[in-house]
Amino acid sequence: MSVGDATARPCDEEGNFLPEGTPPGRAETRILGDWTPYNSQDEFELADLLFTRAEMSHGQVDELMQIWAARAAREGATTAFTDSKDLHDTIDAIEEGDAPWYSFRVGYNGTHPQGPVPSWMDDSYQVFYRDPRQVMRMFLSNHKFDGNFDYVPYREYENNERKWGDFMSGNFGWKQAQDLIAEDKRTHGSTLITLLSGSDKTTVSVATGQNDYYPLYLSIGNITNQIQQGHEDCVVVIGFLAIPKCEREHEKSDAFRNFCQELFHSSLTTILEPIRSAIETPEVVRCPDGHFRRVVYSLGPYIADYPEQVLLSGIVSGWCPKCTAHSRDLDGDSSPRSTQLTDLLCSSFSSTELWDEYGIAVNVHRPFTNNFPRANIHELLSCDLLHQVIKGTFKDHLVTWVEDYLKKKHGKAGAARIMSDIDRRIGIAPLYPGLRRFKKGRGFNQWTGNNSKALMKVWLPAIEGYVPRDMIRAISAFLDFCYLVRHPTITQRTLQDIQDALDRFHRYRSIFQRTGVRKLGSKGFSLPRQHALKHYIEHIIAFGAPNGLCSSITELMHIRAVKKPWRRSSRLKALEQILLTNQRLSKLSAIRRSFEQCGMSQDDCHTAALKEVGLDAPETEPNPNTTDGVMNKNDDCGPVGGPQVLNHVVLARRKAPRSPKDINGLTRFIGHDMMVLVRCFLFDQKYPESEIPGSDVSLNLCPRFSGAISVYHSAVATYYAPSDISGVGGMYREQIRATPVWNRGESSVPRYDCVLVQVCPEDDGFRSMQAACVRLLSSIKHKDKTIPCALVEWYETVGNAPDDTIGMWVVKPEYTGNRQRQLEALQRVATVVHLDSVVRGIHLIPVYRKQQISQKHAYSTTLDDFKQFYINKYIDYHAFETVY
Ligand SMILES: [Zn+2]
Repeated sequence: MSVGDATARPCDEEGNFLPEGTPPGRAETRILGDWTPYNSQDEFELADLLFTRAEMSHGQVDELMQIWAARAAREGATTAFTDSKDLHDTIDAIEEGDAPWYSFRVGYNGTHPQGPVPSWMDDSYQVFYRDPRQVMRMFLSNHKFDGNFDYVPYREYENNERKWGDFMSGNFGWKQAQDLIAEDKRTHGSTLITLLSGSDKTTVSVATGQNDYYPLYLSIGNITNQIQQGHEDCVVVIGFLAIPKCEREHEKSDAFRNFCQELFHSSLTTILEPIRSAIETPEVVRCPDGHFRRVVYSLGPYIADYPEQVLLSGIVSGWCPKCTAHSRDLDGDSSPRSTQLTDLLCSSFSSTELWDEYGIAVNVHRPFTNNFPRANIHELLSCDLLHQVIKGTFKDHLVTWVEDYLKKKHGKAGAARIMSDIDRRIGIAPLYPGLRRFKKGRGFNQWTGNNSKALMKVWLPAIEGYVPRDMIRAISAFLDFCYLVRHPTITQRTLQDIQDALDRFHRYRSIFQRTGVRKLGSKGFSLPRQHALKHYIEHIIAFGAPNGLCSSITELMHIRAVKKPWRRSSRLKALEQILLTNQRLSKLSAIRRSFEQCGMSQDDCHTAALKEVGLDAPETEPNPNTTDGVMNKNDDCGPVGGPQVLNHVVLARRKAPRSPKDINGLTRFIGHDMMVLVRCFLFDQKYPESEIPGSDVSLNLCPRFSGAISVYHSAVATYYAPSDISGVGGMYREQIRATPVWNRGESSVPRYDCVLVQVCPEDDGFRSMQAACVRLLSSIKHKDKTIPCALVEWYETVGNAPDDTIGMWVVKPEYTGNRQRQLEALQRVATVVHLDSVVRGIHLIPVYRKQQISQKHAYSTTLDDFKQFYINKYIDYHAFETVY
């Protein structure tokens, strides 16, 4: 369901709507073979390699060209560029992707005090920016977004249930489009383009000191989340704001603080000013599908951390920028903040009352959004998974509170001993693709968001036994919340689950008060970042799934737009060099797209050159990273390109070297009678409908086996997991290993990964599966058929529901024989299963509870040393969704 044909109608270059079905015109493309400003493809490829990927310094480029020139002189040839200046001049001559930098200066123009004047009052501050309309045109002309670009806001339903995913599925875009189209004829038929912005200071530090930069980023909500996360052209740095400096004695003064705020808001107003006219009057722009459309802009969500949100919304620190809840009782009663409400309150109360009772900082410059139609900063402040959930509530609150609890209960020395044991528990968690190994526990020098995300996966079972059960329940509820809000698509049902997880979290977190870790009463949990969790549901309804709008996107941009360009600068007037580098990167990226669009860079430059002179292309090995189902030897997991396909598991391409070649050798090697297991498996394959499985029928009834059997050390599981780091189609893959020698760093260890095997397809979630450890990956040749299969040792499920404290399923190794027998006589129950029944790999983490871990314990034997394991649903988002 969409707003309908009243929006997003294609038009011609003058803005006249086209009849329905008119195909898009081609962009003013190049003549085939025109590599301007380069002479040839190899020149362009070299420039792109040196500048974008190798990031080679001026000096090194000069040196390379000199070496090349020497060789060229001998052979009577020429070099691609004479020196680094020539290389840069050619990049600057690229017309595509040109969004030049401008700047303006701002200074204090208020009253000066009597006596000595602080230096900041006399300084002027330079702000750099790009024209947002030019940047928008650059965005919209990117044909790579075609197919992943929503022109029209929509409401999606599945089984009568509303579904939210990409930004345009939310109510915000819908409402803006309706306002626009229903009420104003000038904008009828136009396309709504929603601007996403974000600002955040970042520091680059060197031994001699540090430099702070304040980039402002821009993106658009029309690009789908899939692309938003995986594509580097989705976010552009559009400004560098000024950071006023002053003597320490004046830092806290009201005058300086007010000036900083005024500078911030007036800079944003000035930078975004060109957009304002196109908020109400459409302009004609070419879109990713090649059509021209009349577009209208609107200011959309703003991504910022809490201090930045305070600055943006003009509230008092400690209050919520989105609602009026009192700072002493943030999770209590409240109503939404808005510009109108602030105006009303300001006209009714004194500045002290406003400050104390409503958290409104009256002296502060009014938010920049007040200068733009249809923009309410309180509504636009986006929720922020990284700062509110991952760094805030998890790391700064829960992890710290658990440590505080241990110190209160056991004293400093006792707590230190326990925390060391917790560290060891984390350290011996079995290996899993993509799981960071915490070799020495978690004594990180610097807590990054990635460290916190990695810890989230293994922390909860590690603290169990050392903290009260309600603490486990509170943290489990919080983790559920965290994984739920990271879903790529959220249904009304998910919203209920989110609310339920949040309610459970609020209910059980009072254990931190009962144990004296937090103050009693509402003050104990009046924490702005934790309170923000309450606003997630309204955020999802308005803006779609939160993982599309997360400050980890801006954090990633810091590296590309600030930190890397800074590192390659000469440090003298570094900002100007950073600006230039960004501009050159945009140009190279845009010209590559232009070449691709004209079909000019289908061949690599060597092949193209050979074809040009009439020779055959050289035979090349396929790139292992791009071939479906085959991964780089050292990569355990990673995104896969291409469209969404059904989940599947395939054997590695290479057979295992030095493995037993015959079935008797395999039996000795693996410790299970392979002939029996293979024959039972063949029975299951032959009689899939049989009520009795092959393992329970007489061996005489099972087919005889005399074929070949080949062993593999790994398989690749590919599945749809769009909110983890996945390819553009949302596909993700991971290695499943079964190998006696797995090399990692200094030592080699056996590695037998665990998997989920589908056993009762008619059930849901984990009830439809059984956990197993893969002992052998093989293919069996039987009667001209080659069957990929796995020998697995089973885990039996404990109980018929997840553990009611930690919320995870418990399993234990399954043995043959009965209890009267000696333990030595017991053998793991094993079966050969078809690889098609393997759903994916899964992480098993020991149920530690009271058990202390010795220093000598090695992670490689963890799966053999414990009696029970949790099915770790927190290992990744897809597991959380699958194992319920
Ligand atoms: Zn609030």
